[in-house]
Parts: sequence; structure tokens; C-alpha cells
Amino acid sequence: MTFVVTENCIRCKYTDCVEVCPVDCFYEGPNFLVIHPDECIDCALCEPECPAEAIYSEDELPDDQTSFIELNAELSEVWPNISEKKDPLPDAEQWDGSADKLQYLER
Ligand code: SF4
Ligand code: SF4
Repeated sequence: MTFVVTENCIRCKYTDCVEVCPVDCFYEGPNFLVIHPDECIDCALCEPECPAEAIYSEDELPDDQTSFIELNAELSEVWPNISEKKDPLPDAEQWDGSADKLQYLER
């Protein structure tokens, strides 16, 4: 079991989640974060910390977000690790809650 970062993180990247993760299993891209599924210990600490409500347990993912399981697995193999909070993207507030953000994902 793992937790999964989903679409609403794109273009927000608040990074509140990374500070609470006991095993530092978040990885950072230009405008999105992912969780490494093999490193996540399923502790659930990160889920309530996300201001964008973008983190879900794998078995509680909304139907339209299931493709993010694969995306977290794939990108956590190539992006660098992040374990400390940094400033969110400058227009994070504007993008929080916007629909169809997957098209803006930068790799
Ligand atoms: S707190 Fe939420 S929006 Fe911020 S980086 Fe983590 S998952 Fe993305
Ligand atoms: S569930 Fe726990 S181990 Fe997994 S990413 Fe969140 S804080 Fe880290």
C-alpha cells in the first residue's frame, strides 16, 4: 500500500507534506511532487497536511485519479528527493482547485 499525490498538486506544490514524512519518500519535479510507492510506509501523516487535498491512500483514490498511481511510481524513479519545505509556486493559490491540470505537468 502507498499514498499517492494527485492532480491538484500540479502548479501548487505547497510542500507541506514533505516535512512530516518519516521516511523522506517525496520526489520533486518542476511543478509537482510524487511519492515513491516502494518507500512509503503508509503512515498517513502527509494526507491531512496537504493544503490542496491532493494526497490519497492508494485504495481511496477518486476514479478519475487512478492514473496517478503509475505516474507517482514512474516519476519518483527519475526526480530528486525533497525532504524540506520550500515556498510554494508563486501562483499556487490561483491554481488550487482548477480542473484538468494534468496537461500542465512538467517533467
Ligand atoms: S502539500 Fe500537497 S500540494 Fe503541496 S507538494 Fe505536497 S501534495 Fe503537492
Ligand atoms: S503516507 Fe507516510 S510514508 Fe507515505 S508519503 Fe505520506 S508521510 Fe510519507
